[in-house]
Amino acid sequence: MPAIAHIDVGLAAKRVAPKINVGWLILASEFIEVIFMILWAAWIETIPTQKAGSYSPWSHSVVLGLFWSLLAGAVIFWRYKNPRTGILIGLLVFSHTLLDSVTSPKTAFYAGDTGMPVFLGSSMTIGLGLWRDETVAMIGEYGFVLAGLIIYLIERKKLKVQTS
Ligand SMILES: [Zn+2]
Repeated sequence: MPAIAHIDVGLAAKRVAPKINVGWLILASEFIEVIFMILWAAWIETIPTQKAGSYSPWSHSVVLGLFWSLLAGAVIFWRYKNPRTGILIGLLVFSHTLLDSVTSPKTAFYAGDTGMPVFLGSSMTIGLGLWRDETVAMIGEYGFVLAGLIIYLIERKKLKVQTS
């Protein structure tokens, strides 16, 4: 359940990118999680449990987060020949790493979480630990999504008014 808060960034991005389908915006904001799921299926990364934090430096470390963001932005720029869209997608992908670094270690959900690794194999971790407190974490996860949804609906309404 944690990690749903990221979709709010995708929803809210509709405001700056009204022409891009919201599904793509949400996918970009959860792209890091897609990479994680592939690596998890390949037995490379692990899901966090009550006791132990996750092992996911390939998808969730700071350095690799930057790498995936640049890669996604470059691919989109190359495919659509649009620098604005490329930058936006890159920023959306990186928003995942940023949000996770603010909320990690998410000990409210996973007691053994030690925070975000900086790089592969490094024991150095970062995180402001906003999700240490269960109440803050719950309000945060759902509050973010609700806020994103409201911004999205307002923007969609504006678009409809413009086109009709
Ligand atoms: Zn994540």
